[in-house]
Amino acid sequence: TFSESAVLQALPKQFFASLVKHVSARIAAGHDVINLGQGNPDQPTPANIVQAAQQAVAKPENHKYSLFRGLPTFKQAAAEFYEREYGVQLDPETEIAVLGGSKIGLVELPLALMNPGETILLPDPGYPDYLSGVTLARVKLALMTLTADHDWLPDYAAIDPAVADAAKLLYLNYPNNPTTAVATPAFYDQTVTFAKAHHIGIVSDFAYGALGFDGQRPVSFLQSSGAKEVGIELYTLSKTYNMAGWRLAFAAGNADMIEAINLIQDHLFVSVFPAIQEAGIEALLGDQTSVPKLIDLYQQRRDAWFSATEAIGWHGKKSPGTFYAWMPVPAGYTSESFTELLLERADVAVAAGNGFGDHGEGYVRIGLLTSPQRLEEAAQRIGKLGLF
Ligand code: PLP
Repeated sequence: TFSESAVLQALPKQFFASLVKHVSARIAAGHDVINLGQGNPDQPTPANIVQAAQQAVAKPENHKYSLFRGLPTFKQAAAEFYEREYGVQLDPETEIAVLGGSKIGLVELPLALMNPGETILLPDPGYPDYLSGVTLARVKLALMTLTADHDWLPDYAAIDPAVADAAKLLYLNYPNNPTTAVATPAFYDQTVTFAKAHHIGIVSDFAYGALGFDGQRPVSFLQSSGAKEVGIELYTLSKTYNMAGWRLAFAAGNADMIEAINLIQDHLFVSVFPAIQEAGIEALLGDQTSVPKLIDLYQQRRDAWFSATEAIGWHGKKSPGTFYAWMPVPAGYTSESFTELLLERADVAVAAGNGFGDHGEGYVRIGLLTSPQRLEEAAQRIGKLGLF
């Protein structure tokens, strides 16, 4: 039967599926659940971007098969965006690839660049979708442990040199989901050195690139000297411009890696709907005033969450970036048993840290994607359980 496909059997379970099922059942039973389990941006796409899309949808030329490999004008806009935001120069035709969301790029890269059985280095804890590419490309997984003591950055000195020499690709993600950590320029410099020493391709997932707080702007991996020689960065419009449903992102950097992504995509797609790319041009180059407003909004929510949790005696490290909080689990609980308790006794849904890997055990991830009032209420409900 069809279900005998080895790849289907091996694909990791979708991490959020069971959470969504539990939460929906609880809501259906009449509970007022505060759902902080997922990472779905709740704000609308800025109006100028929606308008650009509406006009672009009406254009007959956008109804036909478009060019493979995306609109040159979108790639030009992506290059201008990197120059403006990060001072990084990119050739739009050879150093930018258009993606239907960064998730697809993250999954395609092992298929495009690795042979079955070759080694990929992934962070633990890390974004669970990286594992889909590992399974589909049948590559070998090696995990890099992230710990609070090392600011949730991989410690390259701790990676077995034999594993490093075998590795073909290494994924990084800062600002980080789930730990909220941000990277420093010095860390990215070390990354370039490590990649050159062991001939590893770096994939920097910059999904939360716009989301740094307290006036700290996250740096791009591509700002490090030599970065383009060893890697690429994926930039999604999902978070910066609240366009998660539109599915638009791009990869930028190393021309060989970009060409490999394009070759794979030539066999999978024609291109992202050109009208969406036109809206993307407006997002990247049009009025940017929505971006600092969004950062302020997320910062207010973060502040509300951390003052409310401090007030109940639950001490977490204030998030420097992203729209999550990464909170320690109280003594006597695992991340799963604590997650269950919060849902059943407080009607608060969170994501168990071990869903992001074994080294996420001992934590829960809180999505700060609702109003400060709702976040305060969630903390008060948790406070009533008397655990801290
Ligand atoms: N990478 C990380 C770390 C994410 O958290 C997400 C979405 O939550 C993505 C990538 C996927 O983004 P996109 O909407 O571009 O597929």
